[in-house]
Amino acid sequence: MSKRDYYEVLGVAKTAGTEDIKKAYRKLAIEFHPDKNPGDSNAEEKFKEATEAYEVLKDDQKRAQFDRFGHQAPGMGQGAGGFGFETFDLSEALRAFMRDFGGFGGFDDIFSGGMRGGRRRRTVNRGGNLEVKLPLTLEEIADGVTKKVRIRRWEPCDSCSGSGAREGSDPVTCQTCGGAGQVQQVSRSIFGQMVNVTTCPTCRGEGTVIADPCKTCSGTGRARSQTTLAVKVPPGVSNGNYITLQDEGNTGLRGGPAGDLIVFIEEKPHSNFSREGDDLLHIRPISFSRAVLGGTVDVPTIHGTARLKIPAKSKSGKTLRMRGEGLPHLNGFGRGDLLVELAIYIPEKLGSAEKRLLEEMEENEHFLPNDRSAEKYRKQRR
Ligand SMILES: [Zn+2]
Ligand SMILES: [Zn+2]
Repeated sequence: MSKRDYYEVLGVAKTAGTEDIKKAYRKLAIEFHPDKNPGDSNAEEKFKEATEAYEVLKDDQKRAQFDRFGHQAPGMGQGAGGFGFETFDLSEALRAFMRDFGGFGGFDDIFSGGMRGGRRRRTVNRGGNLEVKLPLTLEEIADGVTKKVRIRRWEPCDSCSGSGAREGSDPVTCQTCGGAGQVQQVSRSIFGQMVNVTTCPTCRGEGTVIADPCKTCSGTGRARSQTTLAVKVPPGVSNGNYITLQDEGNTGLRGGPAGDLIVFIEEKPHSNFSREGDDLLHIRPISFSRAVLGGTVDVPTIHGTARLKIPAKSKSGKTLRMRGEGLPHLNGFGRGDLLVELAIYIPEKLGSAEKRLLEEMEENEHFLPNDRSAEKYRKQRR
């Protein structure tokens, strides 16, 4: 399948500036964001496509490559690191969006992207991210909840406070790079003299080396530890949503900054409801006589029960909508609905008295279908 032109995807001119590109992307990303279009694979594709276009066009180097070579840009294929020109999966696209725009609406503070706010982080020896799953019941999702999660992670070593150097000693400046963490290598080639700046091989970019390592952590500066954290979950989340707890991942080596903890929401199945976006679906079996006569029945809601009026002559499969009895919308006000689908109950056990009752119905023509009913049902099937 051929890919669309990135400018066309974002609807911007070839001469568009970075701000216009950012604006155009933000608009599309919000429109097609999976949280706003649950279960809509078409929207998901659009979201990914827009994110890919944005990732290329916002980057001067990639954009120049694309302008020259289009999608066949050399060296930008798989394995180029980062996003390249490759299509990426939904979680990567979501991360890219979060990184530059955070969440949207009331999401911002909780679903904050790791790189936001212009905070510059030391990246040498940054610890790894941790991912955990957080299973939630529909009730917890409906109200929002603060949950405790237990994690095992690397934390700074107590003995050396994370430096990796034995108590009373300090890491010393690296002799190879003079503390810069980088070294220049000059080489000659047919293109002339090339200067290559690379990470210092002695200190691996840290700028310091440890002469006398801490005994407890063997100079790594960290130790395994178990901890419990509280995670605040807003109402209305769904499967695949995630919450980033900044700096709560693994501590880096020798005082390197910690990675993030990423908490993935998992929805537990519910005995009464299945979820359709922010609507809840409940199947309510009713008797044949109730279906014909109509009346009121009790149906479960997320926090109790409600009375539902069933119109006379309701057919099996009829769906009644109870407004506002669904789940709250994640970004903003309002709630989904509770959809109650009626199913006519066929008795499973019959005694002779019950059989007699039914035999009597069989002898009454009002209970029997005729030619006209056949036609009616055929039309109802479309
Ligand atoms: Zn130590
Ligand atoms: Zn060095």
